[in-house]
Amino acid sequence: MATLVTPLSGWGRFPVQHCELDRPERYADLRPASVSLIARGQGRSYGDAALNDNGRVLLTERVNRLLEFDVEQGILRAEAGATLAEILDVIVPQGWFLPVTPGTKFVSLGGCVAADVHGKNHHHDGSFGNHVLGIELILADGSRVACSPSEKSELFWATVGGMGLTGIIGEVALKLIPISSDFVQVRNHAADNFEQLFRLMQDATFDDRYAVAWIDSMAAGAQLGRGIAMCGHHATQEEFRPGFRNAIKPKRSRAIPFDFPAFALNRLSIAAFNGLYFRQEGGKREPFLSGYDSYFYPLDAIGNWNRLYGKRGFVQYQCVIHEAVAFDGIRQLLQALSDSRRPSFLAVLKRLGAQGKGLLSFPLAGYTLALDLPIRDQGLFTLLKKLDEIVLQHGGRVYLAKDARLSAESFRAMYPRYDEWLKIKKLVDPENRFSSSLSRRLEMGGAHE
Ligand SMILES: Cc1cc2nc3c(=O)[nH]c(=O)nc-3n(C[C@H](O)[C@H](O)[C@H](O)COP(=O)(O)OP(=O)(O)OC[C@H]3O[C@@H](n4cnc5c(N)ncnc54)[C@H](O)[C@@H]3O)c2cc1C
Repeated sequence: MATLVTPLSGWGRFPVQHCELDRPERYADLRPASVSLIARGQGRSYGDAALNDNGRVLLTERVNRLLEFDVEQGILRAEAGATLAEILDVIVPQGWFLPVTPGTKFVSLGGCVAADVHGKNHHHDGSFGNHVLGIELILADGSRVACSPSEKSELFWATVGGMGLTGIIGEVALKLIPISSDFVQVRNHAADNFEQLFRLMQDATFDDRYAVAWIDSMAAGAQLGRGIAMCGHHATQEEFRPGFRNAIKPKRSRAIPFDFPAFALNRLSIAAFNGLYFRQEGGKREPFLSGYDSYFYPLDAIGNWNRLYGKRGFVQYQCVIHEAVAFDGIRQLLQALSDSRRPSFLAVLKRLGAQGKGLLSFPLAGYTLALDLPIRDQGLFTLLKKLDEIVLQHGGRVYLAKDARLSAESFRAMYPRYDEWLKIKKLVDPENRFSSSLSRRLEMGGAHE
């Protein structure tokens, strides 16, 4: 296996660190090393979860075979480097869909298990790990173990959401959901302020399998938190108008060919875009059909959109606030952002259902807010510390798959099951071979001892 030392980053392009890359070609070459190692899928986590400064990074992208697809039962077994895009190409024409999907399909199965990703349906279906039937995990001593919710379940739930720190996920078996078309029936509803928007998200008559709200992060004063709630479900044949062509037009993907100058995304340009989007999407009063690609993966149509943020990159700040105090907590976060006068290109609110069994999984019953914030200066990190305090005061947590800057102390306070996780980590990886820049920053897995 050839090793290459190169500067590497996550999707936010911050931080950039020197890592030694191993790119195994075959499943049999997925092996732990005698030095610090972390697995990496598609590098779509935003911060330093799939980085290992001055250490090894194991790229799983070539270990991506689809091994078995039971078309009757909707069960798929694949190597962990397979992407959701590769899987969708095979399962959708057979009438099946992913039980949970993040907002991009360019992620690996291994990355979805390790971050226990959630989608727009968490309040109904839980997170990715809830639908995983079993995995094969390659441990620090080189042994391969099968684990699942019923077999070696402690190790399974330490790995689901465990950010690659218990071992290399080699294979994943996943239960899919049946669909009767590749379209989604969508309903939009505009809200003039955060109170209206929050009420809509709680309204059972507006609810559907999928629900998400876009927030105009530049709106202030009486319009603070205005936005559009969008809900949907996989369309049934009865929902097609007569004559509607049930076929998705192939979309030509555009790509950002170079780094935008940092000033391209500024308060003015973002406010102008948001105003337009609010009018255009909020004006859709009737339910409409959307191809699954544009509903679930709107940003995938623009390749390398992360370059829009310029060379210094950006941070995605994603947190969840406990449902009992979510209105107050999210409003405080939006107010702090508005007071800072920093532009956020994207602000998305989702409802999350009950906490799952993953010991370090992010979701808990409440509301999650995600903000994309360009890095212009150090003042951004002062603002983010302030947001951490608001999150902590409201019993919430920050999502590790998006994080690049949380402190070890805040991490401990946000993830109360860390000690349970650490016991299992120490049993399977006593020398802490699986470690990443994130795990050292957050002093996880005995990295600080
Ligand atoms: C546009 C966009 C939208 C997104 N939307 C969502 C969303 O809606 N919901 C959500 O939950 N997340 C979302 N994400 C985050 C993304 O789904 C997660 O970060 C996911 O983990 C990325 O998968 P990856 O293959 O790129 O993993 P990487 O970024 O390469 O790695 C992420 C973590 O998984 C570990 N890992 C990867 N492969 C393996 C393996 N084989 N064995 C062990 N550990 C492994 C890595 O060590 C690392 O800790 C989004 C990201 C982007 C860029």
